[in-house]
Amino acid sequence: MDLKQFVAIVPDYPKEGIVFKDITPLMNNGEAYKYATDQIVDFAKDKQIDLIVGPEARGFIIGCPIAYALGVGFAPVRKEGKLPRETIKVSYGLEYGKDVLTIHKDAIKPGQRVLITDDLLATGGTINATIQLVEKLGGVVAGIAFLVELTYLNGRKKLDGYDILTLMEY
Ligand code: 5GP
Repeated sequence: MDLKQFVAIVPDYPKEGIVFKDITPLMNNGEAYKYATDQIVDFAKDKQIDLIVGPEARGFIIGCPIAYALGVGFAPVRKEGKLPRETIKVSYGLEYGKDVLTIHKDAIKPGQRVLITDDLLATGGTINATIQLVEKLGGVVAGIAFLVELTYLNGRKKLDGYDILTLMEY
């Protein structure tokens, strides 16, 4: 299936000069959403995954059906202040300023094998911070899966040595 037909290209969103890849049409189409999920489940099947971890908010949309299909749990990574119990945090650089991502301290048991999911790999900052959170808790990043990779932003450079799947490239 050609998944790119389900990605809407939105110029100048969220600000001028950015060409946003909107994946909501893909989620809106049952066949496309199932097909994309199945591709990632196939990638994960032989990796002995114990847990899925995804950053808010679209990492949840990709990760939760995969957790269900594999019969494993899901742990959310969220912006600071959004998780109710004790967390650990990592800050990472944005184009302007910085942001903080957090995860519950008891979300991962040391040695658990984790698949990280998100909708899109751009500069890699979000996923790099997510990797750090997983590894700080003793988790093993067994794979990372995205629907979309913006190859011109070279996000993969930040993810050297990890097993990565992307379903579409721009
Ligand atoms: P990065 O941290 O790799 O620069 O940016 C990736 C994060 O920003 C992801 O969590 C993703 O959801 C969001 N993001 C950045 N650009 C886009 C885009 O064009 N489309 C979508 N759907 N998400 C984006």
